[in-house]
Amino acid sequence: MTTPVYQNFIHGQFLANQTGETFEVRNPATDEVIYYVEVADESIQAAAIESAKEGFALWSAMTPIERSRILLKAVNLLRERNDELAKIEVLDTGKPWQEAECVDVQTGADVIEYFAGLAPAQVGQQQMVGNDFYYTRKEPLGICAGIGAWNYPLQIACWKSGPALAAGNALIFKPSEETPLGAIKLAEIFSEAGVPAGVFNVLQGAAEVGQWLTQSPDIEKVSFTGEVGTGKKVVASAAGSLKDVTMELGGKSPLLVFDDADVSQAVSAAMLGNFYTQGEVCTNCTRVYVHKSIYQAFIDELKSRTEQNIIAGDPLDPNVNLGALISKNHQDLVMGYIDKGIAEGATVLTGGTVLKPATAPNGYFVAPTVFIDCSDDMTIVKEEIFGPVMCVLVFDDEDDVIHRANDTHLGLAAGVFTKDIQRAHRVIHRLQAGICWINSYGNSPAEMPVGGYKQSGIGRENGIETLDHYTQTKSVYVGMSNIESPF
Ligand code: NDP
Repeated sequence: MTTPVYQNFIHGQFLANQTGETFEVRNPATDEVIYYVEVADESIQAAAIESAKEGFALWSAMTPIERSRILLKAVNLLRERNDELAKIEVLDTGKPWQEAECVDVQTGADVIEYFAGLAPAQVGQQQMVGNDFYYTRKEPLGICAGIGAWNYPLQIACWKSGPALAAGNALIFKPSEETPLGAIKLAEIFSEAGVPAGVFNVLQGAAEVGQWLTQSPDIEKVSFTGEVGTGKKVVASAAGSLKDVTMELGGKSPLLVFDDADVSQAVSAAMLGNFYTQGEVCTNCTRVYVHKSIYQAFIDELKSRTEQNIIAGDPLDPNVNLGALISKNHQDLVMGYIDKGIAEGATVLTGGTVLKPATAPNGYFVAPTVFIDCSDDMTIVKEEIFGPVMCVLVFDDEDDVIHRANDTHLGLAAGVFTKDIQRAHRVIHRLQAGICWINSYGNSPAEMPVGGYKQSGIGRENGIETLDHYTQTKSVYVGMSNIESPF
């Protein structure tokens, strides 16, 4: 059987590039090349812009209800094709089927459904000013660009296209070159649902293609999900044409477990917030601060549950709950951090090695790893690792742990476990993070805005306010009486 080659998706169809250049995509669980993708060369880039201009003209002229109706058809198609799409995500990312089957497609569909419902309800203002009045219109921005990371490829494409399209924009989306297929499938679904050609184009390629999008003078906004370092480059490049930006970047988020917390619940949260999607989740609570009076009970339960309940292996096996990391490079990077943690004096409570599961011996697996005896200045406690590596730290005093939790240039997420309702809110209000959980960790429904403080991001995704980030306000002043002119 020949290996498939996918082209860029422009103006409602696949379009061949002129250079013939392609890149390969590997299944992280088997190390096999599963398909090739054509790089978006200059001819594709030019076509994407021309097509998006046409698409935008048609789409923005429709009423929000008309757009909403079409987007809801796409939502139904996404849900109908859940299993086919979930399988693509498993093969591209290495994540377990048991996650993709119930999270990736569904949370993507939820967000498109949410914004499809919301867009017709977006209203302007009107106010009398003397006998005159003004009113405001919420108008789309024009052509927007979305640039995605590889951990939740389809979900990220949905989270960006949902509000962008609902508000009447066209979107050119570039997925990570490690996980390019989900966005193509979404483009096919949008076309089938009736989204006009050019409203959602998919450009394929690596950093150069992303960079071109950030520079193009025809693009009004860039919504980016990825690393802090790349985000800074994107903002700098977008500044050249003063584009609007939304930045969803990395984190090193704290989870604070107080002495009155339910230890088992807190262990569940810490495991979810470090080992779900094999640790490749931006909001992960990779710094777990545990009150000294429950520290021993916490790490005893954490160690036994990590060693007994985690099943690594072929991610398509529904019993597997720990998949492969995205690439060999990333596996090496994560192992490099683990080695550094040991070298700097932390103790491995469990894990700390690569894994070679019998059902996926060539995959890029890393054992779920817990470090104890950590201090705040260690590299593993300061830098985002983006793998299944948890650092447990001890604390005694509320003020002190809040200070330690905030002592970072990142501020994506935070969590607090306590049964004291006043302490829960008091502490969470003082934590410098955009996405916070009390006695919970990781849930991110469409209705809830998400985004980072400090260097973890700019702007928000999901929630009502995101629609504003994809529209601009036009003020219209209406004169009702004769103009008083000194001329
Ligand atoms: P990267 O920053 O490496 O890449 C993100 C995207 O940007 C990819 O599509 C990449 O292309 C592209 N890109 C790379 N260089 C440039 C450039 N100079 N200009 C424009 N685009 C560029 O992130 P990862 O893919 O490694 O994703 C992991 C990171 O994403 C983590 O830091 C994680 O925390 C963060 N993340 C944040 C989320 C949030 O909502 N806050 C959610 C998910 C992840 P290519 O990969 O093809 O080279």
